[in-house]
Amino acid sequence: MHQPVLYNQIISLLQPRKGCKFVDCTVGGGGHAYGLLQASSPDGLLLGLDVDPQALIQASQRLAVFETRVILRHGSYSTLGQQLADLGWGEVDGILLDLGVSSIQLDSIQRGFSLRHDAQLDMRFDPETPLKASDLVNHLPENELANILFRFGEEKRSRQVARAIVSNRPIRTTWQLADLVAKVTSSGKEGMHPATRTFQALRIAVNHELEAVESVLPQAIQALAPGGRLAVISFHSLEDRIVKRFFQRESRDCLCPPTQPVCTCGHVAQLIIITRKPVRPGESEIKTNPRSRSARLRVAEKIKSERRIQ
Ligand code: SAH
Repeated sequence: MHQPVLYNQIISLLQPRKGCKFVDCTVGGGGHAYGLLQASSPDGLLLGLDVDPQALIQASQRLAVFETRVILRHGSYSTLGQQLADLGWGEVDGILLDLGVSSIQLDSIQRGFSLRHDAQLDMRFDPETPLKASDLVNHLPENELANILFRFGEEKRSRQVARAIVSNRPIRTTWQLADLVAKVTSSGKEGMHPATRTFQALRIAVNHELEAVESVLPQAIQALAPGGRLAVISFHSLEDRIVKRFFQRESRDCLCPPTQPVCTCGHVAQLIIITRKPVRPGESEIKTNPRSRSARLRVAEKIKSERRIQ
Protein backbone atom coordinates (compact mmCIF):
# COMPACT_ATOMS: atom_id res chain seq x y z
CA MET A 1 0.00 0.00 0.00
CA HIS A 2 1.14 3.57 -0.71
CA GLN A 3 1.82 5.58 2.44
CA PRO A 4 0.64 9.15 1.90
CA VAL A 5 3.45 11.67 2.35
CA LEU A 6 3.07 14.64 4.77
CA TYR A 7 -0.40 13.33 5.59
CA ASN A 8 -1.06 15.28 8.80
CA GLN A 9 0.28 18.48 7.30
CA ILE A 10 -1.99 18.13 4.26
CA ILE A 11 -5.06 17.48 6.36
CA SER A 12 -4.38 20.39 8.66
CA LEU A 13 -3.36 22.89 5.95
CA LEU A 14 -6.27 22.14 3.60
CA GLN A 15 -8.66 22.82 6.49
CA PRO A 16 -11.38 20.29 5.63
CA ARG A 17 -14.80 21.02 7.13
CA LYS A 18 -18.24 19.65 6.50
CA GLY A 19 -19.74 20.70 3.22
CA CYS A 20 -16.33 21.36 1.57
CA LYS A 21 -15.49 20.33 -1.98
CA PHE A 22 -12.01 19.03 -2.79
CA VAL A 23 -10.12 17.92 -5.83
CA ASP A 24 -7.34 15.42 -5.34
CA CYS A 25 -5.60 15.82 -8.69
CA THR A 26 -3.37 12.78 -8.08
CA VAL A 27 -5.62 10.47 -6.10
CA GLY A 28 -3.24 7.46 -6.37
CA GLY A 29 -4.10 4.91 -3.68
CA GLY A 30 -6.54 7.36 -2.09
CA GLY A 31 -4.54 7.96 1.10
CA HIS A 32 -4.81 11.76 1.30
CA ALA A 33 -8.32 11.61 -0.20
CA TYR A 34 -9.43 9.31 2.63
CA GLY A 35 -8.28 11.81 5.23
CA LEU A 36 -9.93 14.75 3.47
CA LEU A 37 -13.24 12.89 3.15
CA GLN A 38 -13.12 11.76 6.76
CA ALA A 39 -12.41 15.25 8.03
CA SER A 40 -15.16 16.79 5.89
CA SER A 41 -17.86 14.37 7.12
CA PRO A 42 -20.73 14.00 6.80
CA ASP A 43 -21.18 15.68 3.42
CA GLY A 44 -17.85 16.91 2.01
CA LEU A 45 -17.26 15.92 -1.60
CA LEU A 46 -14.11 14.88 -3.40
CA LEU A 47 -13.22 14.58 -7.06
CA GLY A 48 -10.22 12.29 -7.54
CA LEU A 49 -8.25 12.33 -10.77
CA ASP A 50 -5.50 10.02 -11.91
CA VAL A 51 -4.07 9.02 -15.27
CA ASP A 52 -3.33 5.51 -14.04
CA PRO A 53 -6.36 3.19 -14.26
CA GLN A 54 -4.77 0.84 -11.69
CA ALA A 55 -4.51 3.68 -9.18
CA LEU A 56 -8.18 4.46 -9.73
CA ILE A 57 -9.13 0.85 -8.95
CA GLN A 58 -7.16 1.05 -5.69
CA ALA A 59 -8.66 4.43 -4.82
CA SER A 60 -12.20 3.26 -5.51
CA GLN A 61 -11.73 0.33 -3.13
CA ARG A 62 -10.13 2.47 -0.43
CA LEU A 63 -12.76 5.20 -0.69
CA ALA A 64 -15.82 2.95 -1.15
CA VAL A 65 -17.00 3.70 2.41
CA PHE A 66 -17.66 7.31 1.41
CA GLU A 67 -20.10 6.17 -1.29
CA THR A 68 -21.59 9.06 -3.27
CA ARG A 69 -19.27 11.63 -1.70
CA VAL A 70 -16.48 10.55 -4.07
CA ILE A 71 -16.20 10.89 -7.82
CA LEU A 72 -13.21 9.31 -9.55
CA ARG A 73 -12.19 10.16 -13.10
CA HIS A 74 -9.49 8.89 -15.40
CA GLY A 75 -7.80 12.02 -16.66
CA SER A 76 -4.79 14.26 -16.34
CA TYR A 77 -4.81 17.10 -13.86
CA SER A 78 -3.89 19.28 -16.81
CA THR A 79 -7.60 18.98 -17.72
CA LEU A 80 -8.72 20.18 -14.26
CA GLY A 81 -10.83 23.09 -15.53
CA GLN A 82 -12.66 20.89 -18.03
CA GLN A 83 -13.25 18.13 -15.47
CA LEU A 84 -14.86 20.59 -13.09
CA ALA A 85 -16.96 22.14 -15.84
CA ASP A 86 -18.17 18.66 -16.91
CA LEU A 87 -19.33 18.00 -13.35
CA GLY A 88 -20.89 21.44 -13.01
CA TRP A 89 -19.03 21.80 -9.72
CA GLY A 90 -18.35 25.54 -9.63
CA GLU A 91 -15.71 26.65 -7.13
CA VAL A 92 -13.91 24.26 -4.81
CA ASP A 93 -12.41 24.69 -1.32
CA GLY A 94 -9.21 22.73 -1.66
CA ILE A 95 -6.97 21.25 -4.33
CA LEU A 96 -4.17 18.78 -3.79
CA LEU A 97 -1.35 17.83 -6.13
CA ASP A 98 0.97 15.06 -4.92
CA LEU A 99 3.47 14.88 -7.74
CA GLY A 100 5.37 11.73 -6.85
CA VAL A 101 5.24 8.22 -8.18
CA SER A 102 3.14 6.00 -5.95
CA SER A 103 4.69 3.02 -4.20
CA ILE A 104 2.17 0.89 -6.05
CA GLN A 105 3.67 2.09 -9.33
CA LEU A 106 7.28 1.76 -8.15
CA ASP A 107 6.59 -1.78 -6.99
CA SER A 108 4.75 -2.86 -10.15
CA ILE A 109 7.80 -4.42 -11.72
CA GLN A 110 6.51 -4.48 -15.30
CA ARG A 111 5.98 -0.71 -15.37
CA GLY A 112 9.69 -0.03 -15.38
CA PHE A 113 9.72 2.93 -12.96
CA SER A 114 12.25 1.50 -10.58
CA LEU A 115 15.94 0.86 -10.86
CA ARG A 116 15.52 -1.92 -8.36
CA HIS A 117 13.78 -4.29 -10.74
CA ASP A 118 14.80 -5.49 -14.16
CA ALA A 119 11.88 -4.71 -16.47
CA GLN A 120 10.93 -3.27 -19.84
CA LEU A 121 11.60 0.46 -20.09
CA ASP A 122 8.05 1.74 -19.92
CA MET A 123 7.56 4.47 -17.23
CA ARG A 124 4.16 5.65 -18.44
CA PHE A 125 1.75 6.78 -15.72
CA ASP A 126 -1.05 6.34 -18.24
CA PRO A 127 -0.66 3.06 -20.13
CA GLU A 128 -3.00 4.41 -22.81
CA THR A 129 -0.49 7.00 -24.01
CA PRO A 130 1.63 5.90 -26.97
CA LEU A 131 5.21 6.77 -25.97
CA LYS A 132 7.30 4.60 -23.61
CA ALA A 133 10.75 5.32 -22.18
CA SER A 134 12.17 2.68 -24.55
CA ASP A 135 10.93 4.73 -27.52
CA LEU A 136 12.89 7.76 -26.33
CA VAL A 137 15.98 5.77 -25.45
CA ASN A 138 16.07 3.89 -28.74
CA HIS A 139 14.85 6.46 -31.25
CA LEU A 140 15.69 10.01 -30.19
CA PRO A 141 18.67 11.73 -31.80
CA GLU A 142 21.67 11.86 -29.45
CA ASN A 143 21.50 15.62 -28.84
CA GLU A 144 17.79 15.52 -27.98
CA LEU A 145 18.40 12.69 -25.56
CA ALA A 146 21.27 14.62 -23.99
CA ASN A 147 19.04 17.68 -23.60
CA ILE A 148 16.38 15.64 -21.83
CA LEU A 149 18.95 14.18 -19.43
CA PHE A 150 20.39 17.60 -18.73
CA ARG A 151 17.12 19.52 -18.33
CA PHE A 152 14.97 16.94 -16.57
CA GLY A 153 17.66 14.97 -14.74
CA GLU A 154 20.17 17.76 -14.13
CA GLU A 155 22.70 15.15 -15.26
CA LYS A 156 26.08 16.84 -15.61
CA ARG A 157 27.37 14.13 -17.90
CA SER A 158 24.34 14.21 -20.14
CA ARG A 159 26.38 14.18 -23.35
CA GLN A 160 28.44 11.16 -22.30
CA VAL A 161 25.35 9.27 -21.15
CA ALA A 162 23.50 10.04 -24.38
CA ARG A 163 26.50 8.93 -26.43
CA ALA A 164 26.75 5.67 -24.49
CA ILE A 165 23.03 5.03 -24.98
CA VAL A 166 23.12 5.69 -28.71
CA SER A 167 26.12 3.45 -29.28
CA ASN A 168 24.56 0.58 -27.32
CA ARG A 169 21.12 0.59 -28.92
CA PRO A 170 18.77 -1.18 -28.73
CA ILE A 171 18.37 -0.93 -24.95
CA ARG A 172 15.45 -2.95 -23.72
CA THR A 173 15.46 -3.11 -19.94
CA THR A 174 15.92 -0.96 -16.85
CA TRP A 175 19.04 -2.84 -15.76
CA GLN A 176 20.63 -2.68 -19.18
CA LEU A 177 20.20 1.09 -19.05
CA ALA A 178 21.26 1.38 -15.41
CA ASP A 179 24.50 -0.58 -16.02
CA LEU A 180 25.33 1.47 -19.06
CA VAL A 181 24.83 4.77 -17.26
CA ALA A 182 26.83 3.57 -14.26
CA LYS A 183 29.84 3.09 -16.58
CA VAL A 184 29.93 6.77 -17.56
CA THR A 185 28.71 8.60 -14.44
CA SER A 186 29.40 8.40 -10.75
CA SER A 187 26.92 8.00 -7.93
CA GLY A 188 25.25 11.10 -6.53
CA LYS A 189 24.78 12.31 -2.98
CA GLU A 190 23.61 9.91 -0.27
CA GLY A 191 24.83 6.97 -2.31
CA MET A 192 22.24 7.59 -5.00
CA HIS A 193 22.53 5.12 -7.89
CA PRO A 194 24.37 6.75 -10.82
CA ALA A 195 21.36 6.17 -13.09
CA THR A 196 18.81 7.86 -10.78
CA ARG A 197 19.01 11.13 -12.70
CA THR A 198 18.64 9.43 -16.05
CA PHE A 199 15.56 7.56 -14.84
CA GLN A 200 14.04 10.74 -13.43
CA ALA A 201 14.66 12.57 -16.71
CA LEU A 202 13.09 9.85 -18.83
CA ARG A 203 10.04 9.62 -16.58
CA ILE A 204 9.49 13.38 -16.74
CA ALA A 205 9.84 13.36 -20.52
CA VAL A 206 7.60 10.32 -21.08
CA ASN A 207 4.80 11.80 -18.98
CA HIS A 208 5.29 15.47 -19.92
CA GLU A 209 5.33 16.11 -16.20
CA LEU A 210 6.63 19.67 -16.13
CA GLU A 211 4.20 20.86 -18.80
CA ALA A 212 1.35 19.28 -16.86
CA VAL A 213 2.37 21.08 -13.65
CA GLU A 214 2.77 24.40 -15.49
CA SER A 215 -0.68 24.04 -16.98
CA VAL A 216 -2.57 22.96 -13.86
CA LEU A 217 -1.49 25.78 -11.54
CA PRO A 218 -3.46 28.62 -13.20
CA GLN A 219 -6.45 26.29 -13.60
CA ALA A 220 -6.27 25.53 -9.89
CA ILE A 221 -6.40 29.23 -8.92
CA GLN A 222 -9.31 29.68 -11.26
CA ALA A 223 -11.15 26.75 -9.68
CA LEU A 224 -10.66 27.80 -6.05
CA ALA A 225 -13.27 29.67 -4.08
CA PRO A 226 -11.94 32.76 -2.25
CA GLY A 227 -10.25 31.45 0.88
CA GLY A 228 -9.78 28.03 -0.74
CA ARG A 229 -6.33 26.43 -0.65
CA LEU A 230 -3.96 24.77 -3.08
CA ALA A 231 -1.41 22.30 -1.72
CA VAL A 232 1.41 20.92 -3.87
CA ILE A 233 3.86 18.22 -2.84
CA SER A 234 6.90 17.99 -5.13
CA PHE A 235 9.68 15.46 -5.10
CA HIS A 236 12.39 17.17 -7.07
CA SER A 237 13.72 20.68 -7.47
CA LEU A 238 12.44 21.19 -11.03
CA GLU A 239 8.83 20.84 -9.94
CA ASP A 240 9.33 22.69 -6.70
CA ARG A 241 10.86 25.61 -8.58
CA ILE A 242 7.83 25.86 -10.88
CA VAL A 243 5.46 25.90 -7.89
CA LYS A 244 7.58 28.36 -5.91
CA ARG A 245 7.85 30.83 -8.80
CA PHE A 246 4.17 30.56 -9.60
CA PHE A 247 3.18 31.21 -5.98
CA GLN A 248 5.58 34.17 -5.80
CA ARG A 249 4.26 35.68 -8.99
CA GLU A 250 0.60 35.22 -8.15
CA SER A 251 1.03 36.66 -4.68
CA ARG A 252 2.28 40.01 -6.06
CA ASP A 253 0.16 42.89 -7.21
CA CYS A 254 2.46 44.29 -9.84
CA LEU A 255 5.07 42.53 -11.93
CA CYS A 256 6.63 45.61 -13.54
CA PRO A 257 10.42 45.97 -13.21
CA PRO A 258 11.32 47.81 -9.97
CA THR A 259 12.87 50.63 -11.99
CA GLN A 260 9.50 51.50 -13.53
CA PRO A 261 7.84 54.30 -11.51
CA VAL A 262 4.23 53.56 -12.50
CA CYS A 263 2.64 50.12 -12.91
CA THR A 264 1.58 49.32 -16.44
CA CYS A 265 1.03 45.56 -16.10
CA GLY A 266 -2.12 45.76 -13.98
CA HIS A 267 -1.34 42.37 -12.46
CA VAL A 268 -3.40 41.66 -9.36
CA ALA A 269 -2.34 39.21 -6.65
CA GLN A 270 -4.59 36.17 -6.45
CA LEU A 271 -2.81 34.16 -3.78
CA ILE A 272 -1.48 34.47 -0.27
CA ILE A 273 1.44 32.15 0.41
CA ILE A 274 0.69 30.09 3.53
CA THR A 275 4.01 28.22 3.74
CA ARG A 276 6.86 30.77 3.61
CA LYS A 277 9.30 27.90 3.51
CA PRO A 278 8.43 24.51 2.01
CA VAL A 279 7.21 22.00 4.60
CA ARG A 280 9.48 18.94 4.81
CA PRO A 281 8.78 15.59 6.43
CA GLY A 282 10.16 15.12 9.92
CA GLU A 283 12.80 12.57 10.83
CA SER A 284 10.27 10.03 12.03
CA GLU A 285 8.33 10.14 8.77
CA ILE A 286 11.52 9.74 6.75
CA LYS A 287 12.45 6.78 8.93
CA THR A 288 9.14 4.98 8.46
CA ASN A 289 8.70 6.06 4.83
CA PRO A 290 12.09 6.69 3.18
CA ARG A 291 10.33 7.64 -0.08
CA SER A 292 9.14 10.81 1.65
CA ARG A 293 12.66 12.17 2.12
CA SER A 294 12.69 14.49 -0.90
CA ALA A 295 9.11 15.77 -0.44
CA ARG A 296 8.44 19.51 -0.21
CA LEU A 297 4.98 20.90 0.41
CA ARG A 298 3.88 24.41 -0.56
CA VAL A 299 0.42 25.78 0.21
CA ALA A 300 -1.26 28.98 -0.99
CA GLU A 301 -4.70 30.44 -0.40
CA LYS A 302 -6.89 32.25 -2.89
CA ILE A 303 -7.34 35.86 -1.85
CA LYS A 304 -10.82 36.82 -0.72
CA SER A 305 -12.46 39.28 -3.07
CA GLU A 306 -12.82 42.14 -0.48
CA ARG A 307 -9.04 42.35 -0.32
CA ARG A 308 -8.71 42.27 -4.09
CA ILE A 309 -10.88 45.36 -4.58
CA GLN A 310 -8.82 47.54 -2.20
N1 SAH B 1 -1.70 11.11 -2.77
C1 SAH B 1 -1.84 9.74 -3.22
C2 SAH B 1 -0.62 9.24 -3.96
C3 SAH B 1 -0.32 9.97 -5.22
S1 SAH B 1 1.04 9.30 -6.09
C4 SAH B 1 -2.15 8.86 -2.02
O1 SAH B 1 -2.22 9.37 -0.90
O2 SAH B 1 -2.38 7.67 -2.20
C5 SAH B 1 0.96 10.26 -7.54
C6 SAH B 1 -0.14 9.85 -8.52
O3 SAH B 1 -0.22 10.86 -9.51
C7 SAH B 1 0.10 8.55 -9.26
O4 SAH B 1 -0.96 7.65 -9.02
C8 SAH B 1 0.16 8.97 -10.73
O5 SAH B 1 -0.44 8.03 -11.60
C9 SAH B 1 -0.62 10.26 -10.71
N2 SAH B 1 -0.34 11.16 -11.83
C10 SAH B 1 0.83 11.41 -12.44
N3 SAH B 1 0.68 12.33 -13.41
C11 SAH B 1 -0.63 12.67 -13.42
C12 SAH B 1 -1.42 13.57 -14.20
N4 SAH B 1 -0.88 14.33 -15.16
N5 SAH B 1 -2.74 13.66 -13.92
C13 SAH B 1 -3.31 12.92 -12.93
N6 SAH B 1 -2.61 12.05 -12.17
C14 SAH B 1 -1.29 11.92 -12.41
